[in-house]
Amino acid sequence: NNIAKADILRQAFQDDIRYVRLQFTDLHGTLKNVEIPVNQLAEALDGKIMFDGSSIHGFVRIEESDMYLQPDLSTWLMLPFSPDGIKIARLICNISLPDGTPFSADPRGILQRVIHEAKELGFDEYRIGVELEFFLLKLDDRKKPTVQPNDQGGYFDIAPTDAGENCRRDIVLTLQQLGIAVASSHHETAPGQHEIDLHAADALTVADHITTLKMVARTISRIHGLHATFMPKPLQDEDGSGLHCHLSLGRSKENAFYHVGDQYHLSPVARSFIAGLLFHAPAITAITNPLVNSYKRLIPGYEAPAYTFWSTSHRMPFVRVPSATDTPTDTQIELRSPDASCNPYLAFAAILKAGLDGVSNRMCPPDPIHHSLVTMSEDERFQYQITPLPTSLEQAIEALEENEIIQDALGMHAFSHYLQAKLWEWEQYRKTVHPWELDHYLERY
Ligand code: GLN
Ligand code: MG
Ligand code: MG
Ligand code: MG
Repeated sequence: NNIAKADILRQAFQDDIRYVRLQFTDLHGTLKNVEIPVNQLAEALDGKIMFDGSSIHGFVRIEESDMYLQPDLSTWLMLPFSPDGIKIARLICNISLPDGTPFSADPRGILQRVIHEAKELGFDEYRIGVELEFFLLKLDDRKKPTVQPNDQGGYFDIAPTDAGENCRRDIVLTLQQLGIAVASSHHETAPGQHEIDLHAADALTVADHITTLKMVARTISRIHGLHATFMPKPLQDEDGSGLHCHLSLGRSKENAFYHVGDQYHLSPVARSFIAGLLFHAPAITAITNPLVNSYKRLIPGYEAPAYTFWSTSHRMPFVRVPSATDTPTDTQIELRSPDASCNPYLAFAAILKAGLDGVSNRMCPPDPIHHSLVTMSEDERFQYQITPLPTSLEQAIEALEENEIIQDALGMHAFSHYLQAKLWEWEQYRKTVHPWELDHYLERY
């Protein structure tokens, strides 16, 4: 580690770095940073930079408000945007208490903790590839975002229909400069909707990448006079934006989800992992779909899941198993419910915890579903063990409140603050008189 620190100090000097951003996220996944002048870098690398955690969402705990930033040295990076030519680097940090112990509600620490649990069960790798969907919206005269999409393009359209193409390409180029391996990008189904796919990598790296990607997308789109939003359902009657997650576990350099003899090349571990996801679906939804608005995406008709079932062919399952290939590394399962408004650290932790619980208890998933749900009666659904996902933030929170396993993934401190914040959010929403109500009731009653 000392060598790495020396390397970073040398690099900072060679690249003429002036400022370093020490980044972390709050409980809701909002990127925060403390910026230090480079002469403080040595201290920062030793984990000696302190901040007052009491004003950070979810960190509040007055007696422990002094917190320390512990940079992950592997995340050192020079940022490609340099205002006035001043060069800035960043380090992603964990949070510790004054006595050096990890802060239990640090989202990055929470994910590391569950990854460690997986290691103890013999799974030394937790890999995730993601598809991030988002909208590019026009700005008004006062540079405020509107709900006007920047184009009328559709799935896989190209320029000139895809006016967002240049902006999207710029985002992707910037991500490459930041060392984020983008697999592909394209126009999505809805007007102004785009998608960027990241190659599978270890979950912690991918969660770091997602927070970086959102920041980059927002910064670059502004340069193009647009606003990038990861809000799950900004446009009524159009598709929402998801964060599909392609998951696999590794054991001694092998893909633990692969089994050569199986019809779908799925190992018993993969099947139990799917069963765990299905079993804990309502509770993890409170974390993977954290906004009131998230539940306006999880409805039938827009390629987002509304029911818990898995499939190898269906368009709208909760878990999809991409068509079987014979390469062990390719075997993965796709969780389709999350949206990018989630805190990726917490979401990946909750997902892993749910899957591992399935594995530890050797849960068996019901049979995959291959036919349409539209024609299915309630009785049939019951028979196939298909249950609806929570239809509101309130329902999801209730499920989380009843689920000690998923609470345990977060830890008590993070769980109770998360719960408090979400109950407050739901309460605010519940008390609001919405335009729909005025449209439908004002004149008629
Ligand atoms: N936008 C859809 C969702 O909300 C997914 C569309 C797709 O990629 N097939 O998840
Ligand atoms: Mg896709
Ligand atoms: Mg997509
Ligand atoms: Mg997908």
